[in-house]
Amino acid sequence: MREFWSLSLAVSSGVLVPRPETETLVEATLAVWSEMTAEASHEPRAASRAQRAESRELSAESREPSAERPTIVELCTGSGAVAIALATEIPTARILATDVSWRALRVARANALAHAVAGRIAFLRGNLWQAVNGQAPAGSVDLVVANPPYVPTRDVATLMPEIQWEPRLALDGGADGLRVQRDIIATSPERIRPGGCLLLEIGADQAEAILALLGKTGRFETGRIFRDLAGRPRVIAARRRDG
Ligand code: GLN
Repeated sequence: MREFWSLSLAVSSGVLVPRPETETLVEATLAVWSEMTAEASHEPRAASRAQRAESRELSAESREPSAERPTIVELCTGSGAVAIALATEIPTARILATDVSWRALRVARANALAHAVAGRIAFLRGNLWQAVNGQAPAGSVDLVVANPPYVPTRDVATLMPEIQWEPRLALDGGADGLRVQRDIIATSPERIRPGGCLLLEIGADQAEAILALLGKTGRFETGRIFRDLAGRPRVIAARRRDG
């Protein structure tokens, strides 16, 4: 058993052990979601004229979260740690969690059952959005989160010996470590609603490359960096632009 976000989670040799730094991904997602709900709440009496004008503009562009019931997609869920933490923190969320590995999904589902959130998380097997298919049509997703494999192939072998038994599939991000990130950044914009957000866990030295990849799509606002407890850049959050 491992602790993650104060939840006790089972792990096996088929999944990446949840890392403390991945709690940054949960924190960042909750921070962005609370911003999104604050933007959408209309408080005409308390709001200034400027705020009212702004909220009119926002609603005209249908940037509002899905009626407080967000659709969240977690790609590469592994042990289910992030999806389960989000399910406990956002009880109204509908969560779709994907992985290429059946073994990982078995562990994730058992963890979701143990924390009584299995009814709110659909575990789907397949490569990234192929697993989701029709369950989240274009422009319907509020939040996409992922901790994909991001370690460059040549570095996987030199990682600390105690993690060598973890599945290579969960760590190996190809020659430059960005293979899966690139795929996620290319395929996510069409699924995310305008004003929705993509949140990626990254390697400590990948922030610049990820920001550049996001920028190149032309579909995101400038990404924001969240740091882990050691002060390293660990998560990038980028809101989807309109259109
Ligand atoms: N943070 C992990 C490690 O350094 C890597 C996780 C990942 O590739 N998603 O071991």
